[in-house]
Amino acid sequence: MTNRPLVAGNWKMHGLKASAGELQKIIAGAQKLSHVDLMVCPPATLLADFAAAARGSRLAIGGQDCHALAAGACTGDISAEMLKDAGAQAVIVGHSERRQHHNETDAAVRAKALAAGRAGLLAIVCVGETRAQRDAGDACSVVRAQLDGSLPGGAADVAVAYEPVWAIGSGLTPTAHDIADMHGFIRRHLASYYGEAGRGTRILYGGSVKPENAKELMAVEHVDGALVGGASLKAEEFLAIAGVYG
Ligand code: PEP
Repeated sequence: MTNRPLVAGNWKMHGLKASAGELQKIIAGAQKLSHVDLMVCPPATLLADFAAAARGSRLAIGGQDCHALAAGACTGDISAEMLKDAGAQAVIVGHSERRQHHNETDAAVRAKALAAGRAGLLAIVCVGETRAQRDAGDACSVVRAQLDGSLPGGAADVAVAYEPVWAIGSGLTPTAHDIADMHGFIRRHLASYYGEAGRGTRILYGGSVKPENAKELMAVEHVDGALVGGASLKAEEFLAIAGVYG
């Protein structure tokens, strides 16, 4: 089975209203890319404006995180329902920066993924090992535990992003061989977890994807697209990455 690829840009804590020009370039470029789904996940402050600008285009807009509850006394948090209401179609959950700096456990990530499904959003569930874990030969067991702990019950509303922590923002990437091994491992795991539907769950690769390496990385078996950080902030680079799918 070949899954339709998804290239999603994670803008993290970057972007002001002045970034609307970059967004317009991405929207214009997306119109020419018919073989790939394109998404930008801006900071929450820009989400509604970006969603309004992208309405009717080929570009989807996503959130970067959500709370597990639909509403409540949770100062500073944003629910999946609020993201949906603002125009989001997806939300990233369990990014390593949230796992590390906000102490998010697998159980918390699963609760957020379930919240995304409840609100009608695609949950992009991030997993990935640290450098020390890879060096110790534990990459697959770490990712297996994260998948077991973080994935919600139904496959329909989920994509998995494999993002080795040491590759994020570092300019380093695993070899194509190592990515093939890990994505094959995740695919088998999804098939045993979700049954046949697990074959249709998209597995994105993330970590220092650039225009220079996108062609090689996106050609790896079971890589169904990319989650892109730094390079997604520049329309030209982001579109060049998505452009490998034609
Ligand atoms: C990310 O943070 O999800 C990411 C993949 O970042 P970068 O592309 O900058 O490594």
